[in-house]
Amino acid sequence: MSENSSEKSRSGFWKNLAGWFGFERKSEYVRNYFADVNVHTSVYMSFIILGLEIYVMYYKLSKAFDAGLVLKGFTLYREGEKYKTLFTVLKDNLLLSAMALVMLLFAAYYRKNAHSGDQKLRRKLTVFSFLLDIVFSYICLYFGFVTSRSDYEKGNQILTFVTMILFVACLLIWSPYASTVILTVIFWCFLKFGVDYFALTSVNGSNGDRINYATFFISLLMVSFSIYHQRKAEAIKDESLESANRSLKKMTVTDDLTGISNMSNFVYEAGRKLKDPETDPGSLVFLFADISNFGNFNDKYGYEEGNKLLRKTAEILTDVFPESLVARQSDDHFVVLTAKQNIKQLDVAKERIREGYTGIRLGLKAGGYYPTDRETDPNIACDRARYASTTIKKQFDDDYAVYDDSMADSFARRQYIINNLDTAIENGYIKPYYQPVVWAENHKLCGFEALARWIDPDHGFMSPGDFIPILEEYRQIYKLDLAIMRSALADIKRSMDMGFPGIPVSLNFSRVDFERAGLVGELEKAIRDAGIPRKLIHVEVTESTLSQYQSRMHETLTELHDKGYAIWLDDFGSGYSALNVLKDFAFDVMKIDMIFLRGFETNPKARVVLKNVVDLAGAVSMRTLTEGVETAEQAEYLRSIGCERLQGYLFGKPMPFEEATQKISDGHLVVSEELMIPGTDAE
Ligand code: C2E
Ligand code: CA
Ligand code: CA
Repeated sequence: MSENSSEKSRSGFWKNLAGWFGFERKSEYVRNYFADVNVHTSVYMSFIILGLEIYVMYYKLSKAFDAGLVLKGFTLYREGEKYKTLFTVLKDNLLLSAMALVMLLFAAYYRKNAHSGDQKLRRKLTVFSFLLDIVFSYICLYFGFVTSRSDYEKGNQILTFVTMILFVACLLIWSPYASTVILTVIFWCFLKFGVDYFALTSVNGSNGDRINYATFFISLLMVSFSIYHQRKAEAIKDESLESANRSLKKMTVTDDLTGISNMSNFVYEAGRKLKDPETDPGSLVFLFADISNFGNFNDKYGYEEGNKLLRKTAEILTDVFPESLVARQSDDHFVVLTAKQNIKQLDVAKERIREGYTGIRLGLKAGGYYPTDRETDPNIACDRARYASTTIKKQFDDDYAVYDDSMADSFARRQYIINNLDTAIENGYIKPYYQPVVWAENHKLCGFEALARWIDPDHGFMSPGDFIPILEEYRQIYKLDLAIMRSALADIKRSMDMGFPGIPVSLNFSRVDFERAGLVGELEKAIRDAGIPRKLIHVEVTESTLSQYQSRMHETLTELHDKGYAIWLDDFGSGYSALNVLKDFAFDVMKIDMIFLRGFETNPKARVVLKNVVDLAGAVSMRTLTEGVETAEQAEYLRSIGCERLQGYLFGKPMPFEEATQKISDGHLVVSEELMIPGTDAE
């Protein structure tokens, strides 16, 4: 243990030391950051050098002219004789100016392109800028060196040398080991080949001078080290800030599952595109597309495969609609803003989505909306495109529909429903109607089914068929179901206060209710608040509810059942996975869909099928109820084959609470003494 830790600290020491000298691995961000700083610094230095050099060249030439030299072409003449070419006289100055110019040009290119987002180019620029820094530094130092020697020979100070060292070692950022090498070499060269300005090598050089020179060297070294570390710390801080920023930004603009744009980003970008003077809104189309059969696909292959399919679809759409905006709205819903002529790409996308899945026939249904002007609201445009697509939902041969004015009325109604649900609930426009459920044996009342009605001051009476599919599609149905649940509980309480026996009520729940957590909690709370026994509530779920989100659903139902709620399987026989459902869940009652009563009078097979269904229920210990009973003959037959409960217009249509209680009071409805089947219905 202690050996281990001392080993660790030893390796930590070497690591620290290496880090101090700049030997550690730097992230790309840090390297780029250094490149940015160096290019920036070089620009200043280049300007200074250019200014100075132009002045020096001018100065040199004017001195030459003062001394009687004459310039012919590029050659200087003295007293008619060739003296030197212009180039020989100015070569050092020209070289340095040229280098400064190159540096400036590079810096201009760098600034334009380094942050363009092209990572490959960025990497190249960073590497190239360091190479250029090396050349530039070398030339600067050489220049400082030469100038200082000539200055010294003229008895002047050697400030150019000092300036250049300061520039190279302290303004440009090098890793400390590189600064050490550079400074050591330059200080040594200056001593060796330069001038003995400090008189260090001469006999009369004093110790003080030597110490001065060494101190200067060490100070520069330390300054360059500390600048390096300071800049590095800055870069690292910047990097973490930027990456936090990036992931934040990513979170707000992309869809988690597919990585393509999310809806809020789509709306923003689409709005910008429409307003862009370079685009003609008339050339564009908003598309809303969803995968047909996606629900069945999920059931069959599971959630993970479903997600894979969504990612694949996102990829395909992005691919077939280049230079367009593509986003996932929710579930299997995608939106696209593209040029009108691209609409045919939907077929290409559909074919590609199908590839690789043979077990299930996938499709892509889409709706389109043509924006009318720059002010078109992308949200509404997508809703309209979506609405257009719902008009062909059940048509096998139609994959694309465009929103037109004839859809305006029903679209407006749909928007009305979504936008007014909350107010309608608050104001009590939505309430349960009660349809009687009777014993087949004696037609006495044994319960009610609560069925939602929306009685709107503007739109009048609305049936569930008008609003339930829409609320389900927009995942708002839970609000309605909870409202109906509360009203129904209040009504039960009210009826009991009026002296009626507690009559059980069936509540309908949609699949989407089970995707949200908290259903049980809300029901429990409402039951407690109303102070009525749980056995008075039957929870109706449809088999289609059961096929998706299996496990969450299963858990919730089990929990409800354990608490004492009866669970009724609604609409048995209307879907395709019917039999499987029986094996997976222990329902109390099977509600046989009214579809089985179709052709009851004319087709003798209808009776055989019904009998078999009732027997099947019995075989898996479920009680039965048949819905949609309209004739006495149907009722009698159902009784004869052992179906226990009946519901249908024969016994009463769904009616308001007042009407139901009235009917009981005046004897139209006779409440059974036995409201449940002892020992089998939930206690
Ligand atoms: P459901 O649960 O199968 O309800 C039975 C439907 O059949 C009701 O239609 C009822 O009026 C109708 N019906 C009853 N007896 C007969 C009959 O003898 N003949 C005929 N032709 N029809 C009959 P409704 O009230 O329009 O409800 C339609 C569907 O809307 C319901 O089907 C249910 O799935 C859904 N729904 C109704 N209320 C709610 C609710 O509060 N929450 C949820 N999630 N869904 C609801
Ligand atoms: Ca029902
Ligand atoms: Ca039903």
